[in-house]
Amino acid sequence: MATLAHSDIVTAQPDVQNVISVADVHKYYDLGETKVHALRGVSLDIRHGEFVAIMGSSGSGKSTFMNLLGCLDKPTSGRYSLNGTDVSELDKSALAAIRNRELGFVFQGFNLLARTTALENVELPTLYARLDKNQRTARAEKALNMVGLGDRMDHFPSQLSGGQQQRVAIARGLVNQPSILLADEPTGNLDSRTSVEILQIFQDLNDQGLTIVLVTHEPDIAQFAKRVVVFRDGKIRRDDAARNRPRAADVLLKMPTVED
Ligand code: ADP
Ligand code: MG
Repeated sequence: MATLAHSDIVTAQPDVQNVISVADVHKYYDLGETKVHALRGVSLDIRHGEFVAIMGSSGSGKSTFMNLLGCLDKPTSGRYSLNGTDVSELDKSALAAIRNRELGFVFQGFNLLARTTALENVELPTLYARLDKNQRTARAEKALNMVGLGDRMDHFPSQLSGGQQQRVAIARGLVNQPSILLADEPTGNLDSRTSVEILQIFQDLNDQGLTIVLVTHEPDIAQFAKRVVVFRDGKIRRDDAARNRPRAADVLLKMPTVED
């Protein structure tokens, strides 16, 4: 019997190298009397292992685009394929399933449950995975260790700094071992140094092979990504590979600490 070679699998799914493939997507918001044309023909491919920053001024369509990538909303027209699956046609429950399996989310406001420890917050998304309690706890502990919070697992959000809370949220985004991490303005509520610390974590995770899409309106943050895509008026205006990309760890060495 012939065995299936890796090349057979790749040939069978020519799209599979692109974790994200968006083709000519439009999004209208219907407000009754008026319609808002938030995305006007966006096409973008993102390959496995990329670290992409999405930039653009307020209202340019970044969050609308991220909601589509995150399977939280559907395009009005156009095609979106996630890891080889065409998600533009899926119903709500199928979208929720693929979202849980493929995607991790990080938001500006951390969105942690207040009366719940760091460990429990991170464990929460694993409820959907077919794991027993010990396996779920082990996964959550591993994710917290990855973001350097192994010694804060029993702390409540109010006992953690903003940067630490965002690290808990990143661990929560990683706990189901997603193929992509989507972050919408994750440093928007953080001071400069803490922001770079978060970007250091993103660079480390990306070095380990995680695909990351990060929305930010700050060039100082976008510079840490490998590729910068700029939106304007619902369209992609620029798409550049970052040259002379700094390492967040090096930048941190030159930044003042709280003791300075
Ligand atoms: P950004 O994240 O770049 O600030 P958005 O994607 O939030 O941009 O918004 C793009 C455009 O779509 C804006 O004109 C905004 O007002 C509009 N918009 C966004 N969300 C909605 C919504 N839920 N209903 C109606 N209009 C919306
Ligand atoms: Mg936005």
